[in-house]
This record gives sequence, C-alpha cells and structure tokens, in this order.
Amino acid sequence: MPAASTILSIVVPCFNEQDVLCETCSRLLAVRAALVAKAKISPRSHIVFVDDGSRDSTWQLIEAWVQGGSPVTGVKLSRNCGHQNALLAGMSCSRADAVVTIDADLQDDETAIERMVDAYLQGCEVVYGVRARRDSDSWFKRVTARGFYRLLSALGVPTVFDHADYRLLGRRAIDYLQRFGEINLFLRGVVPLLGLRSCAVHYDRRPRRAGVSKYPLRRMIEFALDGITSFSIAPLRAITVVGMGLSLACVGLAGWALAVRLTLAEAVPGWASTILPIFFLGGVQLFCVGMLGEYIGKIYMESKKRPRYLIETVAKPEGLQRRAGAAKRKSRPHGARPIRIDHRRWLPETVADTLAGPK
Ligand code: UDP
Ligand code: MG
Repeated sequence: MPAASTILSIVVPCFNEQDVLCETCSRLLAVRAALVAKAKISPRSHIVFVDDGSRDSTWQLIEAWVQGGSPVTGVKLSRNCGHQNALLAGMSCSRADAVVTIDADLQDDETAIERMVDAYLQGCEVVYGVRARRDSDSWFKRVTARGFYRLLSALGVPTVFDHADYRLLGRRAIDYLQRFGEINLFLRGVVPLLGLRSCAVHYDRRPRRAGVSKYPLRRMIEFALDGITSFSIAPLRAITVVGMGLSLACVGLAGWALAVRLTLAEAVPGWASTILPIFFLGGVQLFCVGMLGEYIGKIYMESKKRPRYLIETVAKPEGLQRRAGAAKRKSRPHGARPIRIDHRRWLPETVADTLAGPK
C-alpha cells in the first residue's frame, strides 16, 4: 500500500478537558495536515475525541468541530468509564490502518507522531512513546511512577519503562487487542503481550498545558493496584510464603525454648507452651489461606480468557504467502516483505527489543 493511503486515527481520551481541548485540537490537526502534505498518511485520516463522561463543555466543543467539517470524529461515553476504557472505545470505533493514542493535555509531544508513523511505515506494528525526560512532572509523580514500573517488572509484569499510553498500534495489533477480554484493562501490560514487531520513539514530557490532572493520589493508587492485580498473583503467593516462614520459625523457636528449659534454671514457666502455639497456628492458617489463594489465582487467570497465542507470520509455500491477520485486506501496509517466523517475539525479549529500538 503506498504511504499516502495509510489511514491514521489519533485517539484522544477527554475527561473534563474544555480548558485545553481547543489547543489540543488545533495542534493535532496541524500534525495531521503536515503528514498528509508529506504523503505519509491518507487525507481520510482523522482525530477521534472520546468524551469520557465529561461534565463541562468538552462534548459541545467536539460536536462543533464535527459539524464544522473538521476531520474530527466524536465518541461520547455514557458515563465516566476511566482512561483505559476510553482509549479502548476510541480504538474500537476506528477502522483506520493505524491508531495513535495521546492524552488531551499535550504533555506528550505531539510532534513525535511523525516519527511513530515513520516507524510504522518501516514495518513496526507497535510503536511505544517513551519519555526520555520527565523533569516537568513533580518529584512525587516521578518517584512514584518509576517505583511503580520497577515493582511491576519485579513482579514479572511486562512493561516498557517510562512508557504510558502514548503509542501507535497497527491494524493487526488493534484487532489482537480486542481478543483480550478482561474487564480491568491495563493497556501498558497488555500491549507488550501482543508480541508483534515493536520499537520505541523517545520524546520529552512537558507540563500540562491547561486544566488539572484527572489522576489524584486516590486514582493513582487504584490504577497501580489494578495494574499489579491484573497481571500478577504474586501477592497471593506471598501469603503462602509468609505462612510457611512463620511455621518454620516456630519449629526453630520451639527447639530453642526446649534447650533453654533443659539447660537454664530460670526459664519462664508457661512461656513456650503459650506463645509458640499461637505463632505456629497463625503460620499454619496463613499457609492454608495462601494455598487457597493459589487456586483462586488460577481461577482468576483462567477467567480472563486471554488468547493463548497470537500469530505474527505464517510461512507458506511461494505463491500462497499471506501475512496472518491480513486475510481480508487487499494489500499490505508496508509493501511486500519476506515472511518469516520470529520466535524471539515473546516476552521478555519483546520488551528488551523495544527498549533497544531506534531513538
Ligand atoms: N482521562 C479520561 N478519563 C478519566 C481520567 C482521565 O479519559 O477518568 C483522560 C484525560 O482527559 C487525559 C488522559 O486521560 O486526556 C490522562 O489524564 P491526566 O493527564 O489527567 O493524567 P496525568 O497525566 O496527570 O497522569
Ligand atoms: Mg496528563
């Protein structure tokens, strides 16, 4: 497919963003116009504003742009469903070849979209926007965000360090994403699971242009807990480990108490027989709760019904070659490419590849 026929959607979730939205719209329209002029994207490309149950005049602004004939689409959610669901709604409504998701507050440098599109045109189906500098964030936000990324990776959750929800996804990545049926969607963890060819584009994070953050501390903690519990049963497993440790420590202490009783005359009578059973039974109970947790964890993971595999390429004899997931498309987005099976494209190598991707 020649580059100029690549339809791009820029999806922007908006929750009470009337103060910043006019500037956001004009900047994104300028980016779109420049890409169309350079024949990198089709003139049918557009911006999709998703109103996530705003109570201010966000929707009225969006409606006015749509009625005024701007290349803008509006999607209004019936209530505030949260940032992640607003992003998913915008992506699901778009039938474009590629979708860029970007926050409404212009903290993410919109000029990086061109580099994302370039990477897509060179064959990357997932392009992560990675923050090279985030000096504009408060000290608290920087420290908690980085601590969160480290904790996630320690728990085995696949994430790209310093990447939030600024990314480009190709058509196939979006279609694959729809197959993750979980209610508590944590896109930063799910997108690396797609395992498609990915790379990173770095940019400097800026301060919010106007309006206030929609993520106060309470929502940040909820989001972090959602991220951890949607991907890891390590907290449940920790109960088993603590219970087992406590029980074993009690056995050791019982030996020590017996030695004191036998060797020293001044051992406190009744201490060991009162205290040790309390700790021992506490340990056994925690261990049992942990074991139950193991099973609940398995049920929980099963209930997600995540796809067990996603196909990147299918190798077929000459003449029958076709890229997986592109069955109904008339042509390919990046021109003909040799078909290969790449077994490296699975975690955690995918994330490592991404971080090693072009700057
Ligand atoms: N947002 C949303 N629904 C919500 C909360 C936030 O659609 O319930 C949008 C918000 O309008 C913005 C993006 O998600 O476009 C990120 O929010 P924000 O910039 O306030 O988060 P921060 O950068 O402070 O973490
Ligand atoms: Mg922001």
